[in-house]
Amino acid sequence: MQDVLCVWFGSSGFDRSAEGLLGAGQRIAATTKGKLHSLVLGKGDNGSRAAAIADSVQIADQLSLDAYSPEEALAVITSVAKSLSPGAVLFANDAYSQELAPRLAYRLGGSAIGDAADVVAEGDILKVTRSVYGGKAVAVYHLERRPSVAWIRARAQAAATPRSTQAEIKHIATSADPNAATRLLERQTEAHEGVRLEDARWIISGGRGLGGPEPFEQLKELADTIGAQVAASRAACDAGWVPPSWQVGQTGKRVAPDLYLAVAISGASQHLIGIADAKVVAAINTDQHAPIFKHCQFGIVEDYKKVVSLLKEKLQALKG
Ligand SMILES: Cc1cc2nc3c(=O)[nH]c(=O)nc-3n(C[C@H](O)[C@H](O)[C@H](O)COP(=O)(O)OP(=O)(O)OC[C@H]3O[C@@H](n4cnc5c(N)ncnc54)[C@H](O)[C@@H]3O)c2cc1C
Repeated sequence: MQDVLCVWFGSSGFDRSAEGLLGAGQRIAATTKGKLHSLVLGKGDNGSRAAAIADSVQIADQLSLDAYSPEEALAVITSVAKSLSPGAVLFANDAYSQELAPRLAYRLGGSAIGDAADVVAEGDILKVTRSVYGGKAVAVYHLERRPSVAWIRARAQAAATPRSTQAEIKHIATSADPNAATRLLERQTEAHEGVRLEDARWIISGGRGLGGPEPFEQLKELADTIGAQVAASRAACDAGWVPPSWQVGQTGKRVAPDLYLAVAISGASQHLIGIADAKVVAAINTDQHAPIFKHCQFGIVEDYKKVVSLLKEKLQALKG
């Protein structure tokens, strides 16, 4: 019997990422006939939705994301994990979790893996599927050393099924570690408006083929007609046309929208990794042989200049 501990940051509330994380944890716990525990870091989520799913809920609400310290977060997760002795610890795929998961595995003497597309239990072993070689192949890993600590593509996991009973919610204290190995010296906040790309339901993304920063204004206007977010390929970000935070892909954001419209993006494997969890991909590209067309459900072989304004008109008319 192996318990599962799911750890997430409460600042976005019980969002799609938390739903998917607990969904994955619930399915593993059902297979191993173990308990499902949850640990919420920071304020923002009162734990009530988790309490309808997990067997125990702990909230470390003194942990501040404004003054985030990996050492303080690690100290509390390590202490909770040691007291519960789970066979698996699952994190989501936010930047904090990606940093914490391998360090936690080291502290607990377990095994670590990141970017898991799928996690299942097989006996005492956690089987993790993830894409490798820039998305060209899929590898299955067996994590044999316990606990198995994994950060997973949480938004792409099916949500957990709530029960009729509510678990007890416990608030736990955190404290700064005076012997912390790392210290944060400076913090810079990046301005962003609207929904985070990771949470966006619709994304319109532009690439190098747009030719400059101005066409992104057109994409923004198109996006505004349907409440979509605008993103970009690395080529467009590297050119300085849009901020680096808009980048989707292997070294950018991993997104999971209902619709991803790639405009003048060739579809390099490193870009495709970032949109692997999109439900529907559509593309506009002048080159009918562009790789993106092999990975999309809808495609238009045409100059974006002819399509984007027309699409905006049609959508506005539909809205009207
Ligand atoms: C280690 C590593 C990590 C990387 N990480 C990322 C990442 O996270 N994200 C990412 O995006 N890339 C990443 N890359 C870069 C990636 O390999 C590609 O270089 C990049 O994605 C290309 O961006 P693009 O499709 O915008 O540009 P291009 O490949 O130059 O494609 C432009 C496309 O626009 C089309 N086009 C041109 N004019 C028009 C027009 N008028 N109308 C319509 N279509 C037109 C062209 O036919 C072409 O297909 C990474 C690379 C490496 C090596």
